[in-house]
Amino acid sequence: MQIIDGSALAKEIRSEVKTEVDKLKEQGVVPGLAVVLVGDDPASHAYVKMKSKACKEVGFYSIVHEMPDSVSQERIIETIKMMNQNPNIDGILVQLPLPGHIETEKILEVIDPKKDVDGFHPYNSGRLVNNLDSFVPCTPLGVMKMFDKYNIDLRGKDVVVVGASNIVGKPMASLLLNADATVTVTHIYTKDLKAHTQNADIVIVGVGKPGLITEDMVKEGAIVIDIGINRLENGKLTGDVAFDTVSPKCSYVTPVPGGVGPMTIAMLLQNTLDAAKMR
Ligand code: NAD
Repeated sequence: MQIIDGSALAKEIRSEVKTEVDKLKEQGVVPGLAVVLVGDDPASHAYVKMKSKACKEVGFYSIVHEMPDSVSQERIIETIKMMNQNPNIDGILVQLPLPGHIETEKILEVIDPKKDVDGFHPYNSGRLVNNLDSFVPCTPLGVMKMFDKYNIDLRGKDVVVVGASNIVGKPMASLLLNADATVTVTHIYTKDLKAHTQNADIVIVGVGKPGLITEDMVKEGAIVIDIGINRLENGKLTGDVAFDTVSPKCSYVTPVPGGVGPMTIAMLLQNTLDAAKMR
């Protein structure tokens, strides 16, 4: 069993990004990321803090537009439009989830697709489905980078994606299909999850339920990628996979923390750098 070390890989990518930022700066270009943060959800604040810190480390210009929970949809839209026009901003990210009175899809559609470094705009998700160049959501992109770095060939593999959200499961499935894998997407209404996962060469899970994937659900030698992030009552972070019992069966497995999470931030930096190069 080999652990896929997302922290080490992310560190490598961040250092590559920094080298490229230094070169861009010589040409007078400083990549810029704007984050819109609404409300006071502690997890969202923690993620934004991590993202801002990562931006600073690689030498990006970054700003956070913090807004109260009660902010109007119009105010958020105005802010995004302002960022669309700002020549110092290459990437715009709206931290999700947004409060209930805000229509998330409407907000995401206001982002200029060329600055959509989270890849959530329908223009980019449509291009991804069609296997065309696009901004790709950072989490599934980070998983693909892991496969690449660990020389895991996807062609013809049976892959089961557990979880079908617009930001994790669906783009993950598109990327895998584009890489010639045979993809099954499962979700909360899937009748018998185990029937799908037990024969899979690769299981990728992003649901948000600790211990969802148990040892009897994966075959010997499977590759298991855990995207889930759950905070337990004791404050510890855990994924969706019962790691202690599942990992001995795996050929490759990602831990939580230290797996997909750090890769997500590294991919955000990579996407923002790519956007800056297109200036
Ligand atoms: P979401 O709530 O939008 O979607 C959850 C998906 O899981 C849905 O498609 C739902 O149908 C499915 N699901 C729920 N219960 C299920 C079950 N019992 N069996 C099978 N499928 C089930 O969540 P999301 O935003 O996609 O996030 C999913 C998880 O991934 C969360 O734990 C989140 O914290 C984590 N996440 C991690 C990163 C990272 O960087 N590692 C990034 C984004 C999200």
